[in-house]
Amino acid sequence: MVLDTATLRIAFALMALVLVVLFYFSAYRATRSPYAAWWCGALLFFLTGSGCFLLDGTPHQVWANPLGNTLLVHGGVAVWAGARSLRTVPPPKWAFTGIPLVTLVASLLDHPATNTWSGGAVFLAAMSLTLGLTSRELWRLEPGYSRVRIPLAAAAAGVAFFYFFRWLVFLVEGQDGQVFTTVFGSAITTLVTMVLLVVVSFSMAALSTEQQTRALRVVATRDDLTGLLNRKAFLDLAAERLADPSVTRGSGALILADLDHFKRVNDTYGHAAGDFALQAFAEACTATVRSTDLTGRYGGEEFVILVPGASAERAETIAGEISRRLAAADTPAGIEMPTVSYGIAAYDGGTSDVDRLVASADAALYVAKSRGRNRAVRSDGSH
Ligand code: GH3
Ligand code: MG
Ligand code: MG
Repeated sequence: MVLDTATLRIAFALMALVLVVLFYFSAYRATRSPYAAWWCGALLFFLTGSGCFLLDGTPHQVWANPLGNTLLVHGGVAVWAGARSLRTVPPPKWAFTGIPLVTLVASLLDHPATNTWSGGAVFLAAMSLTLGLTSRELWRLEPGYSRVRIPLAAAAAGVAFFYFFRWLVFLVEGQDGQVFTTVFGSAITTLVTMVLLVVVSFSMAALSTEQQTRALRVVATRDDLTGLLNRKAFLDLAAERLADPSVTRGSGALILADLDHFKRVNDTYGHAAGDFALQAFAEACTATVRSTDLTGRYGGEEFVILVPGASAERAETIAGEISRRLAAADTPAGIEMPTVSYGIAAYDGGTSDVDRLVASADAALYVAKSRGRNRAVRSDGSH
């Protein structure tokens, strides 16, 4: 059976067009996730790129062939950018200009008027590279991301290897070689990419939804001024930790912190300076505690930290370290950072009630204030 490349390309272009339309309305319009946007862009590049190759054999081949190569490579870069957006890392700038530009120049210099494989070596290498980078990006996503991560990464790796071997055979045999034309020819490639585009588009829709869900979760659980957990998220997570004693044998400490005379910071330097001090305090907290500890903004200028596994002494050291960092923080000219008072409540395996823990830390905090502020007091009354 001889597969007619031109017919396959038309089928491919039609399918890509349908996918763009479906994907745009079902995934992108619904989620507005950057991932869906990149995938729509990639499909458009693949669509227009393969469309250009339909002009092969006509007088237009001289511009259409290099343009087709460049657009397809752009599609590869867009797929990579989409995968990176899942980690909220933008693609490096050189990817968008550099890789397609090199492909364009190589194709233009390689007799595009008569040679349908002008710039073939660079084109195949660029496709293999961008798809390989996509696969690497998907592997590197945290395992909890989504179940479709692994099949997607494997699919991207598969196409990357396909292009890699095409590239090798192209270099060894040339474009008219036996293996290149039969195993890696345009007809087979078009078929393979068609099947993969459908698979990938389906999985993409799942990932786009997941990306949006994650973004919403951040909005729902974080305090937007400081980026710390908000009160409800802190209390929920702390309750979970207290109920699961496996990690730290059930003991730890809760620290409640309140900035001293904070109203004065606002009154003296303005509300923006107050906000700045709150952010500086949040940074001092995150720089001091472990990433497995929980840090939240309890409300206003009050903060709360859960340090599983820590003794009351250890919690006191942490409080001292946070205050030291806050005092040493870079501030806009003239602003003096407030001091901080802390109330510390230690717990053991028998405690599972967060509210009671917060209440005893709050009582200790009250004592710290009454004893002159800028200190830490434990709920057992010491210090
Ligand atoms: P104390 O040492 O007794 O804690 O005194 P204080 O001034 O810190 O306590 P008070 O409760 O009287 O004042 C807290 C102030 O915190 C009042 C409020 O305007 C300010 N505040 C609360 N939330 C924010 C915020 O998001 N930004 C700014 N800039 N100020 C805030
Ligand atoms: Mg307060
Ligand atoms: Mg205060």
